[in-house]
Amino acid sequence: MQAIDTLTPCPCGNVAGYARCCGPFHDGAVAPTAEMLMRSRYSAYVLKREDYLLATWHPSTRPAHLKLAAQQPAPTWLGLDVKYHEEDGEHATVEFVARLRYGGGKAQRMHEISRFVRDGGCWYYLDGRFPES
Ligand SMILES: [Zn+2]
Repeated sequence: MQAIDTLTPCPCGNVAGYARCCGPFHDGAVAPTAEMLMRSRYSAYVLKREDYLLATWHPSTRPAHLKLAAQQPAPTWLGLDVKYHEEDGEHATVEFVARLRYGGGKAQRMHEISRFVRDGGCWYYLDGRFPES
């Protein structure tokens, strides 16, 4: 029996599995689209890959740290739905709903419209806003 060394489905929800989805980006591959970068950043939140989240955050808006490991109560990420994705040259917008729960609390929706920018051939998260929903 094959060792379970990959996550299937991928934390972002892709049934192809982590090794065929977000894993390569976490290992250094360049995400070809802003949507794929966004999915890989969601997976990075699930896996607490703060290094990856900071590396894919544009330097102009990047925080010094996220302190994911120290977050209390820790969020449990429940799923991702990408609602909309638009690329226009070096800029892109991705609208998504992530579901999460803090500690033993109720599941909540995080609805965000994120902006991405391509700089030097790589996509970066720029910022996000939370529409009324
Ligand atoms: Zn994925």
